[in-house]
Amino acid sequence: MTGMLVVAGLGPGDEALITPEVAAALADATDVVGYIPYVARVPAREGLTLHATDNRVELARATHALELAAAGRRVVVVSSGDPGVFAMASAVFEAVEHSPRLADIDIRVLPGITAMLAAAARAGAPLGHDFCAINLSDNLKPWETIERRLRLAAQADFAMAFYNPRSASRPHQLARALEILRAECGPDRLIIFARAVTTPEERISVVTLAEARAEMADMRTVVLVGSAATRRVGQHVYTPRRAG
Ligand code: SAH
Repeated sequence: MTGMLVVAGLGPGDEALITPEVAAALADATDVVGYIPYVARVPAREGLTLHATDNRVELARATHALELAAAGRRVVVVSSGDPGVFAMASAVFEAVEHSPRLADIDIRVLPGITAMLAAAARAGAPLGHDFCAINLSDNLKPWETIERRLRLAAQADFAMAFYNPRSASRPHQLARALEILRAECGPDRLIIFARAVTTPEERISVVTLAEARAEMADMRTVVLVGSAATRRVGQHVYTPRRAG
C-alpha cells in the first residue's frame, strides 16, 4: 500500500474562503491532522478521526500523518491560510527527506488563501506592486537573518507582510522591526495591522510608521508595510502598479 496524503489550507478563518477542493478533501478524509485550533475548525463526523497536536511539533506531526497514509488511511493535514506559507507543507516534505521509507506516498498540496492576501483585500490593494513576506518568528532562524532581510527589503522598497509579528515568547521583535523601518523609511510610511481577518474578531487599523506601536499586533495579526508609493484613496490603501 503506497498511501495518499493531502496537505490543505483552511484559509484565514471564514468558511466561505475554504476552496471547494479543500472542502471535498475534508469530506473524503478518514483522518485530519494538525495544530489544535486548526483541527477545531473541522466539524466532527462519523468515520473521521481528528488528531490535534500542540504547536512546535510540526515534524513529528508530519511523520505521524505520513505513517497513517502509508497504512491506507485518507489523511488531510490542515494549516490555516495556505499550507505552503510558514506552515505544514514544508514540514511534510522535510519528514519525507528524513524517512526515505515514506517516499512513495502520493502527496498533494491544496492551496488556501493566505493571511496577507485576505488582509490586503480588506485594506484595498497595498500589495499591488512588488512585495515580500517575512516571518518574524526566530524559532527556526537566527534573529540576525530576520533583521538583515527586513533592512534589505526596506532598502529595495518592497511592500512587506510580517507573519508571526509578536507572541508572548517574543514580545520585543516587532518593536525592533519597527525601529529598523524607522531607520530606513520616512515617518509617513503606511502600516496596516490586520487582526483575525475574516473572523468575528477582525480588526483592521491603518497608521503611519510614526504612529505604529508593537502593542498594536498580537499573534493573530499580520502586519502589512507599504512601499514608498503606497497611499490612501478614500477609505482604502493601495500601491500603484508603476514604480520609478
Ligand atoms: N499558513 C498561514 C500562516 C501561518 S503563520 C497563512 O498562510 O496565513 C501564523 C501567522 O499567520 C499569525 O501569527 C498571523 O501573522 C498570520 N495569520 C494567520 N491567520 C490570520 C488571520 N485570520 N488574520 C491575520 N493574521 C493571520
